[in-house]
Amino acid sequence: MDVYMGSIASKGIAIGTIRELDKKDNTVRRISITDPEREISRFHKAQQIAMVQLDDLYELAKKEVGDENALIFDVHKMMLEDEDYNESIINIIQTQKVNAEYAVAQTSDNFATMFANMEDEYMQGRAADIRDISDRLINVLSEREDNALTFNTPCIIVADDLSPSETVQMDKSKILGFVTRKGSVNSHTAILSRTMAVPALVGVPVPIKVNGQKAIINGFDGSLSISPTPEKITIAKKRLAVENKQKELLAEYKGKETITKSGKKINLYANIGSVGDVGLALQNDAEGIGLFRSEFLYLEQSNYPSEELQFKTYKQVAEMMGGRKVIIRTMDIGADKQIDYFNIEPEENPALGYRAVRICLTEESIFRTQLRALIRASYFGNISIMVPMITSVWEVERTKEIIKEIEANFTKKNIPFGKYEFGIMIETPAAVMIADQLAPLVDFFSIGTNDLTQYTIAIDRQNQMLERFYDPHHPAVLRMIEIIAATGQQYGIWTGICGELAADEELTETFVEYGINELSVSPASIFAIRKIIRDLD
Ligand code: PEP
Ligand code: MG
Repeated sequence: MDVYMGSIASKGIAIGTIRELDKKDNTVRRISITDPEREISRFHKAQQIAMVQLDDLYELAKKEVGDENALIFDVHKMMLEDEDYNESIINIIQTQKVNAEYAVAQTSDNFATMFANMEDEYMQGRAADIRDISDRLINVLSEREDNALTFNTPCIIVADDLSPSETVQMDKSKILGFVTRKGSVNSHTAILSRTMAVPALVGVPVPIKVNGQKAIINGFDGSLSISPTPEKITIAKKRLAVENKQKELLAEYKGKETITKSGKKINLYANIGSVGDVGLALQNDAEGIGLFRSEFLYLEQSNYPSEELQFKTYKQVAEMMGGRKVIIRTMDIGADKQIDYFNIEPEENPALGYRAVRICLTEESIFRTQLRALIRASYFGNISIMVPMITSVWEVERTKEIIKEIEANFTKKNIPFGKYEFGIMIETPAAVMIADQLAPLVDFFSIGTNDLTQYTIAIDRQNQMLERFYDPHHPAVLRMIEIIAATGQQYGIWTGICGELAADEELTETFVEYGINELSVSPASIFAIRKIIRDLD
């Protein structure tokens, strides 16, 4: 048994088999060889294994998607046996004296280009199939798994790093836990793992080639045990049972009000990243959605999401929450959430760069599309609009002007919309310092403690090296929260916290004392926070 330590991104225990996402390994190296016959025999063996894999896939597909759709794997088998394709690979090995992987990759490129240039659309479509079977062969030859982000059986994902867009693409029901070699506990991937309530560790020095090994993630002491002893597995199973029991206990708080003994009501909402998370919010009895990170909708697409797609998504979330408040944050693209189609120039300091409302007020058409979708969706539920990364009064004023124009246009065209609250995130020290000027312009403040901590104590939240210095309990951060809550009260608006600190059990009492009205946390934290609040005097 080997044990590797890292930082805890999301608590919990996971026991399962490792599935390694080896993203670096995708390029095929050209290696000169002296024994072509040996390479040809490696190729034939790989071909046989690939054939068996395709048989299995065919059977699985028949069950999952029906006979007709499963036929594609039969076509792949035929292609794998195609004479021209085979001859080309063998010829490259013999004449160029290169490794089989390289010969397959070269043949794949040649054939795929040939198919792609054909007139016939059906034949053009074969280019992707050639690439698919060739990748399969290369994966077998180099003994690596494919990098698809869907898995047939639940597994523990191990990767160098995971981007937020990769994380959102994964089938959440098939993930037992995440372990990354790099990454920080404040990254969006870590936040997503907490939202998904999946145990996760980051910064773990896992050796390479751990694919298929049994492992235990202990998201309480930060350890990953590979090939654990039977005793260790028994202990982990017991711990898992205790955890589940704890969850059941907390479920006692389902349906109970979030109110202190002296009658102070706190709105306890959930943070979500997609419609798929609403189920978790409901299961955990969220009283509303305090932060819907709408940028994940953008991250899931290969081009700007249309007004219609956005409208449907926001409407769906509002409807699913059945009249409970749903605070949708306008997109916070930039910094660690980069999207190719936004074509953002590389920046020296992305966290201080072209991000969130700065993009929205520069490329207003993107902003207008989202605002139109949000305002239309407000007709169908209790939606609030929230704008992130505010630093100046003019940003709020300009946003409100755009909203007014959209509303006027809707009124003229008889497009219905409802009443909705308009709020801003307080996540920069600048916004804290001018809170008295911002408060009269908005219905609420929601404190983004992740960024507020980063900008207040000048610590890059993504930088693993600085985790020791990233202190969200820093008195400067707490004082800022106190100032915001007091300013909100002074101006008669409500104040919430939607950063990760909202779920910090050590601070719940302090936040209630400050006069915070709302806490928005990952769904799995709701019952624990509700219990603490109900136990407060
Ligand atoms: C925050 O900064 O605290 C926040 C909630 O926003 P994000 O983590 O998405 O930047
Ligand atoms: Mg933020």
